[in-house]
Amino acid sequence: MQTDFGLYIHIPFCRQKCFYCDFPSFAGRERYIAAYLNALSREMELLADRCGETGKLHPRTVYIGGGTPSHLSLEQMEILFQSIQANTSLSDVAEFTMEANPCSLNEEKLYLMKKSGVNRLSIGVQSFDDTCLK
Ligand code: SF4
Repeated sequence: MQTDFGLYIHIPFCRQKCFYCDFPSFAGRERYIAAYLNALSREMELLADRCGETGKLHPRTVYIGGGTPSHLSLEQMEILFQSIQANTSLSDVAEFTMEANPCSLNEEKLYLMKKSGVNRLSIGVQSFDDTCLK
């Protein structure tokens, strides 16, 4: 059983596109979120079928990055975590990280994240200096 890998899940949606950002991320595309989460779920199923002896993936770490994963609604986050739990064994996961923007977090989302196994929150700041950002 392969366990020496990290599972990275990309959520490419943001409230706005920052001018200095080179990441694959998009603003104003919320209408695609449901289809994207469906596709992610299907891809995890296929990977778990192919790689997981028990029909589940057994990563050491899980990282949900973006984009802005916390831009998902509470219901969309629930769908994402259900897909992860259906296709991944979290028992050996040491670090389960989710990137977040404080502006799109609330108590319900934080509670859901904690309940779903997230044990690290990544809040990135590129710079507070506009010249450096340019
Ligand atoms: S919030 Fe982050 S990922 Fe989204 S556009 Fe800005 S820098 Fe890029």
